[in-house]
Amino acid sequence: MDHLDEWFPYDSYRPNQRQMLEVVAARAKKGGIVMIDAPTGSGKSSAVAALLSERGSRKVIIAVRTISQLTTFIRELSLIKKKKPALKFSFLVGKSNLCPLGGEGDVYRRCEGVKGLTTSLMRERAEQGSLVPALDPVIKKQVARIDHDHPMICPYFINSRIYLKAEGGALKMAPSPPLRLKADRVLLPGVQPQQLTELCGEICPYETMLYAAQKADVIVLNYYHLFDDMVREQLYQSIGVEASDVLLLIDEAHNCGEVLQDVQSVRLEEPSLEQAAHELLLLKRTIKGVEAVHHLIPRIKDYMQGLKSSLETEDWFDPGIFERIILKGSLYGSLSEIVEELMTISERIRESNIRAGEFKETAIERLNAFMFRLEQSASDTSYLTVYKKDEDSIFLEVRNIDPGPKMRELGGSHYSCTMISGTLSPVTSYRKYYFGDTDVTLCSLPNSFPKKNRRILCARDITTSFSQRQDKGNTQNIVDYIGVFTKLPGNLAVYFPSYQILDQYAARVVSGISKKKVFIEPKDAKDANIALNEFMALPAMNKSGIIFAVCGGKWSEGLDYRGDLLSGALVIGLPLAPFNRPRRMVIDYFRHKFGEEGEFICYTLPAINRAQQALGRVIRTPEDRGVLVFGEKRFLEQKVIRGLPAWIREEIIECDLNEFREMMSHWRL
Ligand code: SF4
Repeated sequence: MDHLDEWFPYDSYRPNQRQMLEVVAARAKKGGIVMIDAPTGSGKSSAVAALLSERGSRKVIIAVRTISQLTTFIRELSLIKKKKPALKFSFLVGKSNLCPLGGEGDVYRRCEGVKGLTTSLMRERAEQGSLVPALDPVIKKQVARIDHDHPMICPYFINSRIYLKAEGGALKMAPSPPLRLKADRVLLPGVQPQQLTELCGEICPYETMLYAAQKADVIVLNYYHLFDDMVREQLYQSIGVEASDVLLLIDEAHNCGEVLQDVQSVRLEEPSLEQAAHELLLLKRTIKGVEAVHHLIPRIKDYMQGLKSSLETEDWFDPGIFERIILKGSLYGSLSEIVEELMTISERIRESNIRAGEFKETAIERLNAFMFRLEQSASDTSYLTVYKKDEDSIFLEVRNIDPGPKMRELGGSHYSCTMISGTLSPVTSYRKYYFGDTDVTLCSLPNSFPKKNRRILCARDITTSFSQRQDKGNTQNIVDYIGVFTKLPGNLAVYFPSYQILDQYAARVVSGISKKKVFIEPKDAKDANIALNEFMALPAMNKSGIIFAVCGGKWSEGLDYRGDLLSGALVIGLPLAPFNRPRRMVIDYFRHKFGEEGEFICYTLPAINRAQQALGRVIRTPEDRGVLVFGEKRFLEQKVIRGLPAWIREEIIECDLNEFREMMSHWRL
């Protein structure tokens, strides 16, 4: 029995699992980056056991995107703890789900504000000799008077802290005994994130999690804590770790690019601009420089107004023209002067708002963030300036198009970085996209579920490519494919490249579906959840349904349709992002960076991933059976098929409509 066996929590390894875990363990020992592409059922979550087997005194941090992924790792860690009772693990979820203090505005900013004011009060009282804030009569009086809609101090924080007198009489803030007790409770297996607020009662649940995290060997946290530089740095400081001492595990790593781009992009919307004008007016008398900035707003509005008459709904805008227009007749000589002025104003407002108990992000701060990024885009080609509009509104965006530099920084700053996903194929392309030429260990696994339980087909006679969208024969063929597919037994899903194409085909086929309940993906997330629950409840009642959804939408990723919850999926079309000038510019950027492969990486690869994610909902356990259909002939083209994992390439059966009909007539669950 080696180190890995000691930490592996199951009786036996799944096919290829040990080989994968050995790769992870080797990198955990030596340091560096490893990327694992392993289909559902490979036992990827056990990567944490491999990291633990070689961690020494380092901490393991696991970043997940959803609560269900967090639960998966907590389950895995609970099993490991049965073998290794000394193991301590905890989790960190966002304050927005946890903070019991009421009030308006952004929860992080509110917390920062009330904590600042609460700390001043507690310190003042501690200097008078009152070392336990929760017992101090003056503080108790203030707590009793809290306006819960506009709290200025936080009673939960007060209960979470005490003061200690160090040698020489200096005061030191420390976690209170009740907080320590709660944190010990959080470190026991079985506590779920949703129980935390209740478990903590009068103690701040976030502070409790942070304290537990300091003591834990493994911390499971959400993406937000990792990918936002400021949040990560603050967090690591609070829990007392250096990135160079952390073994990082990133789950669902195919999402990293999109998340990093979102975090680094800034939008400026019309209402926010109006609000900024209003805020500046109010500050005219109190802050120097406000008037000059206020004069810029009508120019920005005029610029946006001008873009509204454009025929394109999304397009690039020239930052040079934008700069010339807003500088003309202003007191500023350059964008950097405006950024500097805005920065000073934002800082002043932020401080005075916090003092007044106002914790919302101001529109001036947003404007400042936008201008800052805009200025940066002049010298950094990984930012693109775009506008997007519909009939009523328009926004400007400085969009990050390349997650590579940040990803390299993140991977390189941690002792080791393990990235896992069920759809990280081809892993060589993802390596290039995220890490360029950095040394990365790559590992791709075959599908370990029984081949006989799945049928993978690809239609050679239909497409949603723009040139053939109006072709009547092609359209009718798509309708017929969907018609044949809907006759299959069990719950089914049909995915489309866009809502527009979904509506087009749903209008033609839904009336012909009589034996299944039809669900069309609603745009509203709450309605989508209700409909999905109804769909998933059908098999238990011996009924079945069919969902019509969009690839990359609410019903295509991150859902676990186990057993008979989903028996087949058909992806119509290759879900490429709409082709327009910004897309062309992104392609040019990546062609310049990676040559020929650049276009595949930034344009085709995300589409293949979306399709794979949608089809991947069907078979979640070794017992599940299902049909997976690529309803698009472009999947058979060399430049596309090479993006699919080897096991799909080996099993895929090319067909036309007649062959599809014939094969599906024999398919049994
Ligand atoms: S200290 Fe805790 S309870 Fe208080 S505002 Fe912050 S997160 Fe909320």
